[in-house]
Amino acid sequence: MKILYSEEALRAGVEKMAGEIRTTYGETPLTIVSVLTGSIVLLADLIRRLEMPIRVGVIEASSYGGATTTRGELTINAELLLDIEGRDVLLVDDIFDTGHTLVRVLDKMRELQPKSLRSAVLLRKHGRQEVDALPDFVAFDIPDEFVVGYGLDYDDHYRNLPYLAVMEDADLEQHPKLTAKQGV
Ligand code: 5GP
Ligand code: MG
Ligand code: MG
Repeated sequence: MKILYSEEALRAGVEKMAGEIRTTYGETPLTIVSVLTGSIVLLADLIRRLEMPIRVGVIEASSYGGATTTRGELTINAELLLDIEGRDVLLVDDIFDTGHTLVRVLDKMRELQPKSLRSAVLLRKHGRQEVDALPDFVAFDIPDEFVVGYGLDYDDHYRNLPYLAVMEDADLEQHPKLTAKQGV
């Protein structure tokens, strides 16, 4: 795997984005909604850098595509979502690729009538956007490569890598053998 951002680089990027969020909201109480599962590591780091009153909730978005695509049906499960009606809400996700996931989740949340709704992502993939909307806060713009680590998975693995890495062809070939051998 090729490291794209080290732990230190990720920390600096998240800190910078947290500063932009603090500037935008000031002391306004904020409800953070994290899109499971890819954003959990970002969520943990981001909320500890927001020195302001916040509530934290989650929403689940899953797609039944291949391991490296989001093609296929997107299912949104809002059962775990906090009450967001009349609240200032910030949606947090791992990556804005085509943008369909973010747009669908934002649409779903708008039905619940928050007072305001913005979005923050760790990564935006260059040249892949298929929707009109853009995230309000972006920590890193990355090239069009498949990345893992810092919450992002390949086949539900690698979310625990503390850095962000590009999954290369050799890694993809290795992966099924590794998982078969470990029996996971
Ligand atoms: P979109 O709907 O914007 O095309 O896709 C967003 C979702 O696709 C992300 O939340 C993530 O689950 C997945 N995704 C897109 N690109 C990547 C990538 O490079 N690496 C990983 N691990 N997931 C990705
Ligand atoms: Mg996701
Ligand atoms: Mg995934």
